[in-house]
Amino acid sequence: MRLRQVMASDAAPLGELARLLAAELVSEVCSIYVMRPGEILELAATHGLNPSAVGRTRLRVGEGIVGLCAATQEVLNLADAQNHPAFAYRAETGEEPFASMIAVPVRRAGRMVGVLAAQNRNPRQYSEEEVDVLETVSMLLAELLAAGGAANGDDEGVAATVPRVFAGSSLGGGIAVGRVLVHGGHPSVHRLLADDPAEELRRLHAAAERMQRGLDELIAARAPSGGSAGSASREVLAAFRLVAADAGWLRRVGDVIRSGVTAEAAVARVAGEVRDRMRRIADPYLRERLADLDELAGRLLSILVGQEPAEPVPPGAILVARRLGPADLLDWHARGVAGVVIEEASPAGHAAIVARAIGLPALGGARGVMAAARSGDPAVLDADEERLILRPDADVRQVYARALEARTVRQAGWAAFRDRPTVTADGTPISLMLNVGLALELDQLDTTGAAGIGLYRSEIAMLARGAVADVAEQAATYAKVLDAAAGRPVLFRTLDLGADKILPGGPPSEEENPAMGWRSLRIGLDRPAVLRRQLRALLLAAGGRDLSVMFPMVATVAEFRAARNLLEAEARRVRPAPRSLRVGTMLEVPALMWQLPELLKEVDFISIGSNDLLQFTFAADRGTPAIAHRYDLLSQPMFDMLEQVLQAARAAPGRDGMRQAGTSGGASGGTLGGTPGGAPRGVPVSLCGEAAGRPLDALALVGLGITTLSMPASGILPIKAMLAQLDLVTFRPVLTSIRRGGAGAASLREPIAAWAREQGLPV
Ligand code: PEP
Ligand code: MG
Repeated sequence: MRLRQVMASDAAPLGELARLLAAELVSEVCSIYVMRPGEILELAATHGLNPSAVGRTRLRVGEGIVGLCAATQEVLNLADAQNHPAFAYRAETGEEPFASMIAVPVRRAGRMVGVLAAQNRNPRQYSEEEVDVLETVSMLLAELLAAGGAANGDDEGVAATVPRVFAGSSLGGGIAVGRVLVHGGHPSVHRLLADDPAEELRRLHAAAERMQRGLDELIAARAPSGGSAGSASREVLAAFRLVAADAGWLRRVGDVIRSGVTAEAAVARVAGEVRDRMRRIADPYLRERLADLDELAGRLLSILVGQEPAEPVPPGAILVARRLGPADLLDWHARGVAGVVIEEASPAGHAAIVARAIGLPALGGARGVMAAARSGDPAVLDADEERLILRPDADVRQVYARALEARTVRQAGWAAFRDRPTVTADGTPISLMLNVGLALELDQLDTTGAAGIGLYRSEIAMLARGAVADVAEQAATYAKVLDAAAGRPVLFRTLDLGADKILPGGPPSEEENPAMGWRSLRIGLDRPAVLRRQLRALLLAAGGRDLSVMFPMVATVAEFRAARNLLEAEARRVRPAPRSLRVGTMLEVPALMWQLPELLKEVDFISIGSNDLLQFTFAADRGTPAIAHRYDLLSQPMFDMLEQVLQAARAAPGRDGMRQAGTSGGASGGTLGGTPGGAPRGVPVSLCGEAAGRPLDALALVGLGITTLSMPASGILPIKAMLAQLDLVTFRPVLTSIRRGGAGAASLREPIAAWAREQGLPV
């Protein structure tokens, strides 16, 4: 076997390896570049280029074809390399006559350690088999370089002591202060060649079975006895297990084994392919599926190389990983990590769902962190402010350590507020409700003493499950939500899929602006079967109880009417009918502002989705970190808009008022911001974007007159504690004068914060 001849040279120096590989590929040139300190790729060996260039030719990551390969970590297979925009000519190499080139990344434990390149005089595309050979040899090369200490991508010394800040997106809020624990990705493979493919296939299948058993145990360990917290993680894990059971990728591993390598080398190869495909996929759902496969490959590898994870986790450890699947995240959490930073993770991904569910501070999308972090580095993870500070100065570390301590003490103090009514110092009752997406979050109703669920994001459970559930299953899920709420109001939002929340088999995400594309209610109205099934499930779940349903991304009154008609059509068929049926809209699309009079005649309540309303009002993508803090909810245009909604809603007769006073039960206007305790009047307005859960934002919103806020659980007790000290009678005129004085300013946050500090309010 040709591959074996090349591999058999594993004791040979790099030059000999380059020569053998060139012969194998029938290439005039084969070169090995090694990563040096400062992210420099140095020509370490060559067959075919000028030998005097060895040690002299150096390319930065991103420079030339070799540098581009290192930057993208992708194979570049170019028939006409010299005309590629990235081509960088180096006279000393004498490479003018070579038209075609292939560059293959050499990675070890998820890090770039070099690049393997071949060139040919004649333009040619390298075949799939040749790419296979190069990729397998690149694995061997990675081990050779590690053993010889030849590769060193670290800026040891200088860079390793300098503080660095990494921005990302919060996957789960909170702070952790401790030391980095780098999760190096998959274990290294040392044994590459095998004489007996049948034996390797047997090892593979035994390992796969063992892995499946491990997953079953993990699922069982989160059985219902663990409360709803267990069952929610089970939803994610069960979806994950389906991926594990998928035979396609194991078959592909089997094919690679038959080419003469060990089971572990084959798994590592296939995992590499998965990773490369992952990089090219824009669809977030598919990316997550591939990330799941990557995690499974890691688990298989650990079993095959006999390296099951066992290192002890030091207290306060902040796990840094390139990717992390949901099962791994639960494992690490059980082993005691205090926070996680994942280089490639989106807030909508599985890891994020699990991190939020278990309350673990987590940051995703922190680019470059894997290359910079070393196990043992001191670090501060501030997931609330969406950053990781690596090797912080001693005083920064101390400030955060104190903040963490104070937070623990404050949390203990907040607990006392759980059973108290939510009321401002001047006696204005406020309703603080929960945003919920998974069954496990239902526990938080009781742990926070929330007034109800102001936003049930029905699509989250479907995303965790990987498909839209049938009517019976959906009805069971919603009934559990109503059971847990035990009479407290629940606003169910219909499926808000699309944009970053894509199900398999969903619409192709080829839109240029998916957030403004065919998403949410637009899909629901164009494909009403799915929406009708969901509405039926909600009515069945209510089973004679009160039911409140709202529609997301409504842009016209006509859309709202069409959606409400679907609900009413279903309601005529379902028995028992709900005791009360209230139908509302989310206000997320600014166009509704100019339809308020009509809209207010038709809706039972309005819930302001400030995340989307802010993004569409300022034309600023809510998921783009570079503009995340550029536009502020606490600003004159947003305040004016919210005030206009409140005034119009208060002045409207309200459908409750029009029908008759007091038919509805628990979910009456009083609870949702009407006149507490009195007869329903006007149309209740609540606000349910993430801002509602931040004390300073909540202060401003309550000051404006919004008396119902719905938020993540972490916000409820701190905001309750803040409100208890807030004298609204004093604050309202202050806010009015801040608004007047700050007209035209980008944000009014600072003057509001200054007043709050003066008053000693905990914001
Ligand atoms: C919002 O847009 O503010 C909202 C609550 O909905 P989501 O964040 O689910 O889009
Ligand atoms: Mg929204």
